[in-house]
Amino acid sequence: MTDLSPNRQAATIGWQTVSPGMTAAIGGTPLIRLERASQETGCNIYGKAEFMNPGGSVKDRAALAIINDALKSGALKPGGTVVEGTAGNTGIGLTLVAHAVGCKAVIVVPETQSREKLDFLRMIGADLRLVPAKPYRDPGNYVHVSRRLAEEIGGFWANQFDNTANREGHRATTAREIWEQTDGKIDAFTCACGTGGTLAGIALGLRDQAAAAGKAAPRVVLADPEGSALYGWVKSNDLTATGNSITEGIGQGRVTANLEGSAPDDAERIPDAEALEQIFSLTSNEGLSVGGSSGINVAAAIRTARRLGPGHTIVTILCDGGARYQSKLFNPEFLRAKNLPVPPWLA
Ligand code: PMP
Repeated sequence: MTDLSPNRQAATIGWQTVSPGMTAAIGGTPLIRLERASQETGCNIYGKAEFMNPGGSVKDRAALAIINDALKSGALKPGGTVVEGTAGNTGIGLTLVAHAVGCKAVIVVPETQSREKLDFLRMIGADLRLVPAKPYRDPGNYVHVSRRLAEEIGGFWANQFDNTANREGHRATTAREIWEQTDGKIDAFTCACGTGGTLAGIALGLRDQAAAAGKAAPRVVLADPEGSALYGWVKSNDLTATGNSITEGIGQGRVTANLEGSAPDDAERIPDAEALEQIFSLTSNEGLSVGGSSGINVAAAIRTARRLGPGHTIVTILCDGGARYQSKLFNPEFLRAKNLPVPPWLA
């Protein structure tokens, strides 16, 4: 393993056409060794610190890739408006990148998402439209509302679920960074899915890198919360979902264009209590404050380490920070009402 110290050089050098400025601070995140998870499993488990992006999440990369692609193709004109339906983080990334390139953002979010993300979107000047949470098959679902709104106002619909510029951004940057930061010594990668851009982009990128180096590709493991259909898709090609989860931004009921062809090798279904145990352990043992999807990802990395046995290297994604979920994941009343564990320092 070579230098794992912070490497903040712009991840986008060589492919972005938008002006520099804040977008140069997206990507180039550190790969952090998770000591306790590594010791417990005898493996090297690393988390890619995506919460360090300027908008505070992994979705800044997708926002930059989508806006960059749209400016290149002319689908988005300078001064134009980006419209998107999001659980919040993509909206934050799109709003910040849009402002950095002289555009505006209209963001449609289900009202069930954390207050902290909604407040942040308002704070940075997104034109925020809250809608009731509805399933994808319902025309009132936030994704469909955002598509219609883009048509009405003549804006550019980012379409993060089916616009593969999303995964191509991860393929060109996140995957390459992980490969370089591990010196190509990576046995497995675990990741949850919302749009699938992160999982698929990194899976494809790591396979590209491995093929170029004449090595076997790392094992790609989907980390799925309860209530998502993708675990069944990977395990038995059956898209049915049961249960539910307090995590936000992940879980999916269909194979998005971003996920198509990504072919994860395996999947782990992680209950909320197991994810929370990891989140609280990362906080008290590693000094890392992360959100729900990071807990799902780390739990899947630990399960994968146990399946592979000692001596392997597993990388996962720390998608966003804990402060974004203070009112939920770190709120004893909220946790008790859901019969979930409360961290001892908050009990
Ligand atoms: N974690 C969080 C906190 C997110 O907001 C998202 C995106 N909604 C994801 C993970 C999933 O990323 P992707 O859309 O690339 O699958």
